[in-house]
Amino acid sequence: MKGFYVMTAALVMILVSLIISTARNMSDVADSSSDGVKETEERLVALTFDDGPDPEKTTALLDMLKEKGVSATFFMIGAYVEENAEIVKRMDAEGHQIGVHTYSHVDLGCLTEAEQREEIEKTRQAIWSVVGERELVVRPPFGRINKVLEDWIDSPMILWDVDTLDWTGKAAEEIIMETVESVHDGDIILMHDISENGLEGAEGIIDELQRMGYTFLTIDQLFYCKGIELENGVTYRYAR
Ligand SMILES: [Zn+2]
Repeated sequence: MKGFYVMTAALVMILVSLIISTARNMSDVADSSSDGVKETEERLVALTFDDGPDPEKTTALLDMLKEKGVSATFFMIGAYVEENAEIVKRMDAEGHQIGVHTYSHVDLGCLTEAEQREEIEKTRQAIWSVVGERELVVRPPFGRINKVLEDWIDSPMILWDVDTLDWTGKAAEEIIMETVESVHDGDIILMHDISENGLEGAEGIIDELQRMGYTFLTIDQLFYCKGIELENGVTYRYAR
């Protein structure tokens, strides 16, 4: 499994150096503004979207991300992947990272190993049948894991640092303000591509954080830039 990350490191490196050079140019712009963002200060962040894909909301989100030139990571429900193959194909073609969020959005912490394996394997198969076989990071629903899962899972598990709580129906302005106030370099932001105000919230978060000199990376790119090699069976989130 580690081999996958090593093999893809060269490709990631090229992508990342392109992204970073764009970010430096943007920081130069920010330097001349009243924000006074220092060129040397690294500001990297990963936007992640759970619970899709949804035919309307995910499509609108992909349109927005394309317009802003932002890459994100989508942790998807296997059953919805099967129903929305074209959206998943587009996601992949437009440079977003794809991850597993189980087949039916279950709490893996309450399942046996056999049940956990079925949830994850069925989702992998659904994704692979659309975009081809590859390693896929996993986000356990509700961030819930247990020892059984840690012992067998053959993927890294990715949680988050900033929870936007966009699924609660809160207003986009609130989502934007609270996220922008709490985000730090290296953070993973949790959103949902099925939430009511998520699109407007994500758009505002992107605008504000870009203005502050942040660069948006996928999960693989973020960990690569931070010099962290993802390992199977390990849960990742940054400690503050
Ligand atoms: Zn979820």
